[in-house]
Amino acid sequence: MLKLFCIFLKANDRAYMREKGLDTIRSHACDFIRKRLAPAEPANDGKQTPMRGHPVFAAQHATATCCRSCLEKWHRIPKGRELTEAEQAYLVDEVIMKWIKREMEQKEGSGQ
Ligand SMILES: [Zn+2]
Repeated sequence: MLKLFCIFLKANDRAYMREKGLDTIRSHACDFIRKRLAPAEPANDGKQTPMRGHPVFAAQHATATCCRSCLEKWHRIPKGRELTEAEQAYLVDEVIMKWIKREMEQKEGSGQ
């Protein structure tokens, strides 16, 4: 869906995902969303998602699910209240994991 920034998975992110498998990556995504984005007032909002270090972080920046300002602006989820379970599931499954799967498919064939 949103291709806001020129962000892509790096070789080490791909290797990490192949090693861990998508189910593990998904459970990490759930964790990050729950701990870093779901609270009404997340700690360090706007800076809680590093640019690198985990494939889910790259996905969050690429899909504007990195902070509450981006969620409000791009996904119309208002700031200042806790995310519902349904919103968290939507962000993980419909946004982040979809982006990751598409990235994996796209680059898999291109010899990277
Ligand atoms: Zn953001």
